[in-house]
Amino acid sequence: MEQRIEGLLKKKYGHGIKESSNIELFDILMHMTKDEMERHPAVPGKKKLYYISAEFLMGKLLSNNLINLDMYDDVKEVLNRNGKNIEDIEEIELEPSLGNGGLGRLAACFLDSIATLNLPGDGIGLNYHYGLFKQIFSKNLQKEVKNPWITEDDWLVKREGVSFEVPFRRGTVKSVMYDIDIPGYKAGTINKLHLFDLESVDDKIVGEDSISFDKKDIEKNLTLFLYPDDSDREGLLLRIYQQYFMVSNGAQLILKEMKEKGYNLHELDKHVAIQINDTHPSMVIPELIRLLQNEGFKLDEAIDVVTKTCAYTNHTILAEALEKWPMDYLEEVVPHLIPIIRELDNRVREKYEDKSVRIIDDDLRVHMAHMDIHYGHSVNGVAALHTQILEDTELNNFYKIYPEKFNNKTNGITFRRWLVHCNPYLTAEIKKLIGDDFLKNADKLEDLMKYENNEEVLNRLGKIKHENKVALANYFKEVQGEELNPDSIFDVQVKRLHEYKRQQMNCLYAIYKYLDIKAGNKPKTPITMIFGAKAAPAYIIAKDIIHLILCLSELTKNDPDVSPYFRVVMAENYNVTYAGKIIPAAEVSEQISLASKEASGTSNMKFMLNGALTLGTEDGANVEIRDLVGEDNIYIFGEKKDKVIKLYQNSSYDASAYVKKPAIKKLVDFIIGDEIMKAGGNEENLKRLHHELITKDYFMTFLDLEDYIEKKEQVFKDYENKKEWNRKALVNIAKAGFFSSDRTIAQYNEDIWKLR
Ligand SMILES: *Cc1c(COP(=O)(O)O)cnc(C)c1O
Repeated sequence: MEQRIEGLLKKKYGHGIKESSNIELFDILMHMTKDEMERHPAVPGKKKLYYISAEFLMGKLLSNNLINLDMYDDVKEVLNRNGKNIEDIEEIELEPSLGNGGLGRLAACFLDSIATLNLPGDGIGLNYHYGLFKQIFSKNLQKEVKNPWITEDDWLVKREGVSFEVPFRRGTVKSVMYDIDIPGYKAGTINKLHLFDLESVDDKIVGEDSISFDKKDIEKNLTLFLYPDDSDREGLLLRIYQQYFMVSNGAQLILKEMKEKGYNLHELDKHVAIQINDTHPSMVIPELIRLLQNEGFKLDEAIDVVTKTCAYTNHTILAEALEKWPMDYLEEVVPHLIPIIRELDNRVREKYEDKSVRIIDDDLRVHMAHMDIHYGHSVNGVAALHTQILEDTELNNFYKIYPEKFNNKTNGITFRRWLVHCNPYLTAEIKKLIGDDFLKNADKLEDLMKYENNEEVLNRLGKIKHENKVALANYFKEVQGEELNPDSIFDVQVKRLHEYKRQQMNCLYAIYKYLDIKAGNKPKTPITMIFGAKAAPAYIIAKDIIHLILCLSELTKNDPDVSPYFRVVMAENYNVTYAGKIIPAAEVSEQISLASKEASGTSNMKFMLNGALTLGTEDGANVEIRDLVGEDNIYIFGEKKDKVIKLYQNSSYDASAYVKKPAIKKLVDFIIGDEIMKAGGNEENLKRLHHELITKDYFMTFLDLEDYIEKKEQVFKDYENKKEWNRKALVNIAKAGFFSSDRTIAQYNEDIWKLR
């Protein structure tokens, strides 16, 4: 390995490892990795999966590719021997932000596991030039700037000669295709992520430090941003342009590969499985029907074979996230799909009286999920509780028609990234205790249970956690200039900012704790509350909550009565890279969504695997975590889903009634009080947030607030018993095997794709 790296460096830069900069080393290692992957064959098989998704939140690739190619340890050692450090070299790589959060990260974990299980399966998505925005804090507010990640020389490989014509009403455009290689863990084979783009797209139409651009200039803007602001008509139309561009390219690629392999298109479902990740790729159904008709298929047969090929994953029950496109918008962008969508709807109307299962509603809106359910062969939720809610409530009318289509696939995470890469100390300790079988067979982690009462092992777990906390403190200091106390307890909530995830409830706890300390009740062990979250640029209240968190951060930093005991901090621009540094250092995992609203969550799994204890509601996969670790090893609080669903059905939640309680009023009024104003608060933001909470509180913060505070106090009390805490951490790690995405993917394959 040393010779290989030395040789490459000498050839390109004329010197060896010791004399090289990290930039040069990154360049050489990336090319070496790319060459290595190019030499690996594609995964063989008679049937291939295409995972279509508007998001793939890949994170940095160098280390993970090296791990999967089984080269990481060698490379690391060679670098160390020459006074270099792989972690410093990783810093050079830019993180592509081709996703928002959980859904996009899931797609990335799935690609890793599909390749690892040696299943033939490629991803299909878009090559957004700026992806999701980069978050900057300024005056205690979130500011958004563009996040360029494509450089002269990166992981993208342009596929010369692969180009498709995509017809829009305004004219036909021609695509270009870029590939990123996806190596499985010690698999020896390669799958691909195909990212489609448009040659005419022009990065320069976006302002220097902004994310605004001309939304009408489709030829120049089509693949600039992930989820461009859709608060106006132009923004909505742009999303339809993007979605159709993605699926038309995907569908054409699929048919091209079918033909190249000599397969009969009439046997599409024997050779192809298409997974529709949420509703963004739903237009692939009418598009494939259209293309097959162009190939001479009768309509009935086209519909039949497409239905047998496509499967749909539902990710949310939030009504605002279930896409419904107005017919006239679709007409304006893709008029050639309208007759097909009408025909699909007519067939539904002929068969079923029930208006609620129609594709086109009375307001002439097209329900993308409904099209997926009727014209796909599988509908899955992403955690047991979520699938149950789909069957019993949200999609009950569909479940009654097609009970056989519904199935659950509890989400998972790849242990290669979320353990091996991000937590090398813990990985080494586990290997020492139980060997390395768990890397291919995650259930083996259970073998750790035999150390449940081994004091030496428990002590070492505590030490590893402390080392990771020191590392995070150093990183925070370096990138944000903030001092974290590694001897405080690290209580962490990192995820997209959304009212249903209830960061605002965590803020009210912070206010409670601040006031409690001011009243003279100092915690035995200091507490550091760590937040990380981006808010959608047009989501006003979410940005107000970020403002509150940043004000609390200032308040707790600058008050000498409080700062030695209690700090609130917020990671700037939370992304996969940051997640990889925060999660191994976390001790408390905040999973406090309103019951029924978080479909699964995946950060809850990452935290568990890294030995944090969950403080959470009975929501999403938290329920399955509890069932695995047992009540004693998790902190569950709050109302359950049935009660919450009833409150919504009867419109009987009344925030103002809760605010009459003095204990709650004191906390919520603090938001507009003098202390926060003096900590850099803006009256407009804080008053708006306060008003929203006391009059509406749509996600029922106050319903669970008192129970939450009580439980969190219990968590901090229990932390004082170090041995017992570490025992609970060990149980969490030992039981995390179920949440490997290798298990999830094996189940998708077994029940839905049937690739072999
Ligand atoms: C895992 C992950 C998420 C998902 O977090 P949830 O708490 O499950 O919503 C979001 N963003 C990043 C960067 C992640 O790594």
